[in-house]
Amino acid sequence: MSFTTLGLCDPILKAIKETGYTKPTPIQAKAIPFILKGDDVLAAAQTGTGKTAGFTLPLLEKLVENHVKTPSHRGQPKRHIRALILTPTRELAAQVGENVEMYAKYLPYKSTIIFGGVNINRQINTLKQGIDILIATPGRLLDLVSQRVIDLSKIEILVLDEADRMLDMGFIHDIKKIVRIVPKDRQTLLFSATFSKEIKALATSFQKNPSLIEVSSQNKTADRIAQVVYPVDKARKRDLLYKLIDEGRWQQVLVFTRTKHGANKLCEFLEQQGVRSSAIHGNKSQGARTKALANFKEKKIRVLVATDIAARGIDIEMLPHVVNFELPNVSEDYVHRIGRTGRAGKEGEAISLVCVDENDFLRGIERLISQKIKKVIIKGFEVDKSIEAEPINMGGGRGRRGGGRHSQQNNTQTKKSSDSEWNKEEKKLNSRNRSRKRSRNRNKQNSSKES
Ligand code: AMP
Repeated sequence: MSFTTLGLCDPILKAIKETGYTKPTPIQAKAIPFILKGDDVLAAAQTGTGKTAGFTLPLLEKLVENHVKTPSHRGQPKRHIRALILTPTRELAAQVGENVEMYAKYLPYKSTIIFGGVNINRQINTLKQGIDILIATPGRLLDLVSQRVIDLSKIEILVLDEADRMLDMGFIHDIKKIVRIVPKDRQTLLFSATFSKEIKALATSFQKNPSLIEVSSQNKTADRIAQVVYPVDKARKRDLLYKLIDEGRWQQVLVFTRTKHGANKLCEFLEQQGVRSSAIHGNKSQGARTKALANFKEKKIRVLVATDIAARGIDIEMLPHVVNFELPNVSEDYVHRIGRTGRAGKEGEAISLVCVDENDFLRGIERLISQKIKKVIIKGFEVDKSIEAEPINMGGGRGRRGGGRHSQQNNTQTKKSSDSEWNKEEKKLNSRNRSRKRSRNRNKQNSSKES
């Protein structure tokens, strides 16, 4: 199948051609025809499958097909927001925004991205100039709606991207509010890395008889990602990581830690060894995160150390190495993390440094992906069998105090409040993870009692 046979118009095809894509990815081949037909779509696609183009290309096509000439205002066509794409994180919003701009290059549509942590006034000015496509995180969007800067009454297409993550991050109430504001007569596209009961419930309440699309079995990690576990003592992980980076001459590696503090400490250690590194997490300002990401993409730094929430949405062409310096305590996060490598058909390697404390997490992950991950012992880093497993410190972070969403009057306040929002998100995730673990343990105890 080619993009031409999908029925996209010439300006879109021209933009696709410039990206160098030769044929649609499986999610694109499946989702695009349904979306063009006008169906609501509920799609489960792993990260890195090309899902962004999977909804953006037909979204643009629909805007072209349903285009009604509006009267001009001072020589410019009067615009209103016709498509809204919601994302859970700022990084993902930025990523999707770049994609929309790229694919809409030869169309007369304007798009913009809005999210917290940056100057709201600049966003207001851009919105006032007229926008056709809006990419937003829920919090800042509702702020601007309440300030009457945004009118969502003309939305034709609503996209919820990485909807599972939005639910995990506690955005359900914000999403419900937004859905109440947008017109009932709209097309709703819901994309999620995993299909959970909660996602299906969301689809039932927001969508009209959605077409169900799944490209690979649920929670299955991409086959092209080589996964390996290096068992190692906790205290020796950082030395092993340095050895891997140094001897492997890795130039671009994304490393995951469980806590913000852990990310900072690891970053400091690597810098001391002469490996240029940056950390991204909830205690970093939006500016610092954007800069770190840009430096990483441009290969000005070799290592980006990230917590789960900050890493969501990172898309780097051909990212060759992802390292789980610490395993995530929620197995699904493993799938998200390693989805950062091996994107869109490229090869990738996902390495997990696993100490004795994390064996339960590893078992949970292997159960989820229905696969045993190969274990390799690195010479000189053999596990000390006398070390016993200890409970894992989940961090949790100390949220900064700094005004609620509605006190964002100036830049400083905006930054503080959004950082504390981000901290809240991380805290929420950590507490959700702890309660999931408690309930898993309870279930385990119950089932062993029963058997
Ligand atoms: P996504 O899953 O949307 O984050 O996309 C992952 C990567 O796949 C991005 O780097 C896209 O630029 C790339 N991509 C999207 N569609 C295609 C395609 N049809 N062929 C090759 N690469 C693609």
